[in-house]
Amino acid sequence: MPRRTAAPLATSGEFLRLIRTGEAVTRADLGRVTGLSRPAVQLRVGELIERGLVVERTDAPSTGGRPPVRLEFNAGGGVVLVAALGASRTRVAVCDLSGAELAARRFHIDVEQGPDVVLPLLMDTWDELLGDTPRSRVRGVGMGVPATVEFAQGRTESARVMASWTGVVIPPLIRARFDVPVLVDNDVNVLAIGEHRGAHANVTDLMFVKISTRIGAGIISGGEILRGALGAAGEIGHIPVRDGGGVLCRCGNIDCVDSVASGTALLRDLRAAGKDVKTIEDITALVRAGDAQTMATVREAGRRIGEVLASAVNILNPSVVVLGGDVAETFGPLVSSIREVVYRRSTALATRTLRIEASRMGAGAGITGCAVMVLDHVLSPDAVDDALS
Ligand SMILES: [Zn+2]
Repeated sequence: MPRRTAAPLATSGEFLRLIRTGEAVTRADLGRVTGLSRPAVQLRVGELIERGLVVERTDAPSTGGRPPVRLEFNAGGGVVLVAALGASRTRVAVCDLSGAELAARRFHIDVEQGPDVVLPLLMDTWDELLGDTPRSRVRGVGMGVPATVEFAQGRTESARVMASWTGVVIPPLIRARFDVPVLVDNDVNVLAIGEHRGAHANVTDLMFVKISTRIGAGIISGGEILRGALGAAGEIGHIPVRDGGGVLCRCGNIDCVDSVASGTALLRDLRAAGKDVKTIEDITALVRAGDAQTMATVREAGRRIGEVLASAVNILNPSVVVLGGDVAETFGPLVSSIREVVYRRSTALATRTLRIEASRMGAGAGITGCAVMVLDHVLSPDAVDDALS
């Protein structure tokens, strides 16, 4: 990592940041903002143009005089490869440098088949989606996986769903075919990043709660994803609830909210009550039909999730809690009981301006989050300077 001095001379990477954010849009701006001489500005801008990251635009001439040349970030100057792996659905895409999807595919892969099967399939899909695009235009890879990930290494730690992935270090396996920076995080973190940047960019503190076959959360604190020491921040699924009835969780503890209120738990409890339900959609049908017992079970799950979220809200003081995942997206009664409990049980200060909302981006947040994660990295001043040196 380049050493930063007290009064750093702005590097080409820093120039790109100024141009991307719109803080400086002409060479004259860059000179003024950075205090660098005209030749030094020229050199750095030239590097960025050559690298395809910046383009020049000349405005239509006005009344005489030479029109100023504007500098723009070139979103078309490369691509990133992204994949949001889920236990039930997987989305794979090629995005431009603004994160916009250029080509995408969604399919079902059984992630339990392990990295030897799944990773080659992802890479083949990227190859297909890239088509004739020169591979030299690929700038990075971003992935979300349904497991706890030690972010710095891209190592899958405890696999929530993917037992066959435990301990696997993913980046080198991808770099064997695409030799670019590879960033891997857990699926809920990338959903949180995607929902934050895609739908709540003006908010600095947000908690994204995924309620699906499992329950987990991704936390944006001070504008950044909070990963914790080993990538396990936000694992709210294994916080116990009061009076859960003594359910043994697969983690070995009793009455984790995951074991009493996840989609998996709902299916188990409704089956035990004699309901013929095999999938989340079956539960949805019963809720729509107004089945009293199903509604009561769903509301109870919402209260239990609300109990855990109330504590999380007290600790983190988010301004928005986003509820996502197929269970949250389908069940109105669940969301309203979560809301009721959180407002009742969190402190008045923590809930003064708190909004609890359904996900605005749905499953698309996964792809956006993966793209943002890898773009923030490869377009950061340090990474750009490294690539140019
Ligand atoms: Zn547990």
